[in-house]
Amino acid sequence: MSSPSPLTAALQLRQAVLSVNRASRNGERAPHKHLLILWALSRWIKGEHRLAPFALIEAEVDRLLREYAPDRKTSARYPFWYLQSDKLWEIPGSELIPLEASGKRPAITTLRQPHILGGLPAPVIATLNLNPGLAQLIARDIVRANVAESLQEELLDQLGFDDDAPIPSLPPLPAEFQLVTRRKRDPDFRRRVVAAYLGRCALCGHGLEHEGHPVGIEAAHIRWHNQEGPDELDNGLALCVLHHKLLDRGFWRLHAAESATLCLVSDKASGDETSLNAWLLQHHAQPLRLPQGSLPGPHPAHIDWHGREVFRGSPRQPLPFELRPPQNPPESGLIYSPAASRRYVDCVPLLDIATAAGPFLAGTGQGVITEDTPWVAASGKLTPHHFAIRVLGDSMSPKIPDGSIALCQAGTALAGSREGKIVLVELDDSPADSGRFTLKKYHSVKNVSTDDWQHKRIELQSLNKTYPTIVLEEGQAAELRAIGVFQQILN
Ligand SMILES: [Zn+2]
Repeated sequence: MSSPSPLTAALQLRQAVLSVNRASRNGERAPHKHLLILWALSRWIKGEHRLAPFALIEAEVDRLLREYAPDRKTSARYPFWYLQSDKLWEIPGSELIPLEASGKRPAITTLRQPHILGGLPAPVIATLNLNPGLAQLIARDIVRANVAESLQEELLDQLGFDDDAPIPSLPPLPAEFQLVTRRKRDPDFRRRVVAAYLGRCALCGHGLEHEGHPVGIEAAHIRWHNQEGPDELDNGLALCVLHHKLLDRGFWRLHAAESATLCLVSDKASGDETSLNAWLLQHHAQPLRLPQGSLPGPHPAHIDWHGREVFRGSPRQPLPFELRPPQNPPESGLIYSPAASRRYVDCVPLLDIATAAGPFLAGTGQGVITEDTPWVAASGKLTPHHFAIRVLGDSMSPKIPDGSIALCQAGTALAGSREGKIVLVELDDSPADSGRFTLKKYHSVKNVSTDDWQHKRIELQSLNKTYPTIVLEEGQAAELRAIGVFQQILN
C-alpha cells in the first residue's frame, strides 16, 4: 500500500479538521476542539515541538476558550481528551492514564502531572511539513467557522499566523465544507443594512461619510453568519467598527423590550473608566436607533441566540425598569438574570406551574425562560430538567408548607417507577377541592385477582389527612399527566 500523495494528504487533513463537531443541535457553539487545533497549529508555525505538557496547554488554551468560546463553564481538559477520537490529537500512553470514577476521562489533577503530554499526531505534522501554507489555510478555516467576522484577523495575528503564507493549490473542498469556509453571504447584505440604518451606528449614531459613502460603518450579523445567521435585515445591525467588535466580543447585547430594542452592557466589560463610559456605559439601558417605517428591526430569536452564545457575564446595574425584579414585596433568595455559567449549577428557574407543565415538559423549556424568569438557589446535581414551582395550598403540609418553593425534576426522573414518590401531576378532570395541578404522593394499587398486572387504580394521596385521597380508576388513569418528581423544598 502506498501512502497518499502530499496533496491528497493535505486535502484529507483539511477535511478532517472541518469535520470536527463544533455545535450542538440547539445552536450552541462548541469551538473547543477547533481552538485546541488552532493553538497546536500556531505552535507548529513557531517551530516548537509537537508535544507539550497538559499544564502548559491548559494555561494557554483556557485563555483562548475564555475569549472565544461561549460564556459557559469549560476547560481545556475536554478538547485535550476528546480530540483523540477525531484522530487529530495524540496523548502518548493515553491508554495507561487512569480515568475518573465516571469512567469517561481522567481527572484534571491526573492530567496536570508533568509526564502527561499532548499534541498533533506525527502523520499530521508530516503532512504540514510537506505542504507549505497548509497550516495557515487550516487555521483560517477554523477561525472562519468559529469566530465572529470582526474578530477573525486579530485572533490569527495574535497566534502568529502570517498573512503572506503561500496558499497551497489544493483541489476544492466538497460542497458541504464550503458552506463553512467560504462566506457565501449575500453581497447585498451590507448595503441593505447600512442603508436601512441611514449609514449610522445603531448604538452611538456615528455617521461619517466620504463622497457620500459611510466610513467606518459595518453590517453586523447578530447571529453570526458562520453559525447559521441569515443575511436578512432582521439579523443585521449597522454599527461603527468599535461597537461591532464589542458586540461580537459579548461586551453588550440587545434586549427586545416592548416598545424599543435596548442595549445592555455586560458586567464583564472592562477598560479604563473614560473609554468605558464614552463607548459603552452611556448607552447602557438606552434604546438603539432602528430602521424607520416598515423595515424590520432585530428579530428576538437572533437577539436570544446572541444573548446565549456570545454575551458574557450579566447585564450590569441599573437594569432597565422592566428587567428589575419586582420590588413589592421584595423576596429574598430569588436571582434575576444569573450568568449562564450559574444556570443549573447553583440555581434553577422558578416557573409558574402552567409553564412547567406546557413548554418546559415538552422539552422546549429553554425558550420559556426569559430575562424576567426568577431563578432560585438550589444545590446537588442539577440538570436542565430541574425547575422549581411555588406550592399553593396545604394539602401536603407539614412536609411541603403552603407557599414554599419545591424543586422538581422532569425528564428521566419521570421514566422510573413513581410508586411512593411525590409527583407533580396535572389532572384533566380535577376532582373537587383540588386544583388542576397538584403535588400528591403516588400509589398504584394493582389488582391481582386477574392475570393482568397493569395499574388497576392509582391513588394520589395528600399528606395532610384532612384532604381526601384522589382515586383514579382504571379508565381514568389516562387523565393524569405527571409533570415532575418532587425532590426537596428550597426555601
Ligand atoms: Zn458606534
